[in-house]
Amino acid sequence: MTEGAAAQWAIAPDDRPCVTVADGSTFPVHRIWCVGRNYSEHAREMGGDPTREPPFFFAKPADAVVPSGSKLRFPRATDELHHEVELVVAIGGHGSDLSPEEARRLIFGYAVGLDMTRRDRQAEAKATARPWEIGKAFDQSCPISEIRLAAETGDLAAGAITLSVNGAERQSGDLADMIWSPAECIAALSRIVDVFPGDLILTGTPAGVGPVVAGDTLRATCEGVGELSITYER
Ligand code: MN
Repeated sequence: MTEGAAAQWAIAPDDRPCVTVADGSTFPVHRIWCVGRNYSEHAREMGGDPTREPPFFFAKPADAVVPSGSKLRFPRATDELHHEVELVVAIGGHGSDLSPEEARRLIFGYAVGLDMTRRDRQAEAKATARPWEIGKAFDQSCPISEIRLAAETGDLAAGAITLSVNGAERQSGDLADMIWSPAECIAALSRIVDVFPGDLILTGTPAGVGPVVAGDTLRATCEGVGELSITYER
């Protein structure tokens, strides 16, 4: 673009997707990365081997974020929508090839989020050795609470993480049971791609993932971080 010239947008540019921060500021989302199978009980329920294999990653589009309190459209193209409650790490700085200690210093804050999953589409992708996006990276697939500053929460080495559907508890885990810590996940991601300010990293779900139907209300909590509630339209 020429200096001083107004942008000549080919189409109207979107506003950047954002998440509210507990201090009243706004966190602009750059990328959303998700860690697969980071709790051993969940790795077992998905037919995996809960050993300390390096973490693996998949992505959602930045505009998949939706705030707590939202009423969501029930996603099409699925007969098996699943909830996965996860600790979300919000990144505040840029880095590559980080050590876990360097990665820890890039953590801006934490939220509790949902890695909503079209499990039937993901299962098809696995069976046919195709990418996971159709199962994972759909509209409104990342409900997220407000972000609490890491300076206030501390390192979150332990704490209850839960999910209930219509008041009935479905998932109940502890952050202490993560195979890879948030700092280790960020360090591993930074060996594959650069991490940037505005990145969100969903750190994996504990056991108990299961189906959600139209009309359901989901409530997620993470001790020391916050809570999130969403409802699917009938
Ligand atoms: Mn997940």
